[in-house]
Amino acid sequence: MDLKDIQQLLHEHKFRLTKEREAVLMAFVDARRMFTPAQLHDYVKERYERVGLTTVYRLLEALTKVGLATPFLIDGEIYYTFCPNQHHHHFVCLQCHQVKELFQCNAQQAMDVDQKIGTVAYHKLDFFGRCRSCEEEKH
Ligand SMILES: [Zn+2]
Ligand SMILES: [Zn+2]
Ligand SMILES: [Zn+2]
Repeated sequence: MDLKDIQQLLHEHKFRLTKEREAVLMAFVDARRMFTPAQLHDYVKERYERVGLTTVYRLLEALTKVGLATPFLIDGEIYYTFCPNQHHHHFVCLQCHQVKELFQCNAQQAMDVDQKIGTVAYHKLDFFGRCRSCEEEKH
């Protein structure tokens, strides 16, 4: 997914990508990890430019609405990760906060087996743990 597609999708939802919002977005997309809004704010400030915390909140809210960000509730904090608009699951490292996308999926078929429960519209499945490089660091 490139910036043009993201821009298009946000535009359809009446969200205009200003220069400031674009800077936050690019940092968020490239990081491939999850952030709380405050963490993302710091991250952007260090690397790009000064942006308001409100800008970060607004962008994360808009991205979540159109399905380009997923919030995770971990230890009472909400972290967000960027998501391409293709069905996937996540592996989230609780130590370095990297997020890996898993595009392989059998969950829908598994649920379709038992039609008595109801009809599935969509599903979510995420894994939380420690990534390989964090595990190796320990030794
Ligand atoms: Zn995702
Ligand atoms: Zn890790
Ligand atoms: Zn799935």
